[in-house]
Amino acid sequence: MYIVNLINDNIANMSNIELKNAGLKITLPRVKILSKLENAEKHHLSAEDIYKELLNDGEVISLATVYRVLTQFEAAKIVIRHHFDSEGNSQAVFELNHGDHHDHMVSVKTGKVVEFYDEIIENRQKEIAKEHNFKINDHSMILYGEFLDEE
Ligand SMILES: [Zn+2]
Repeated sequence: MYIVNLINDNIANMSNIELKNAGLKITLPRVKILSKLENAEKHHLSAEDIYKELLNDGEVISLATVYRVLTQFEAAKIVIRHHFDSEGNSQAVFELNHGDHHDHMVSVKTGKVVEFYDEIIENRQKEIAKEHNFKINDHSMILYGEFLDEE
């Protein structure tokens, strides 16, 4: 069905390499969703965001498929899933995994997300873990608040 002779398709090219590297077969839904994530202006997208954009492009795809593909991408470490609370609801958002760790601040007013990385915070966490004889596998820090220049 979703057969895949996309080798000469410009949009698909990078995506194809990434999918192959992740050991995933190249299917049209996977390529489309990956390219949405790659070209997203705000690069933290919910499944619904991606679904709506694909519908706008005239794609025939179900929300269930978008969820399934994102879950496969997460398992293959192509994307990272975060849970951001904004405007009173918790939402899973996905971003491409570039292998660089960063933390997030999220506006509870608008849902705007800003990424940051701070060496001192990172190092303090390691020191604190060490004091507790604790090995960190992963961490995420999300600051909630509002940007003072927001409407
Ligand atoms: Zn991020």
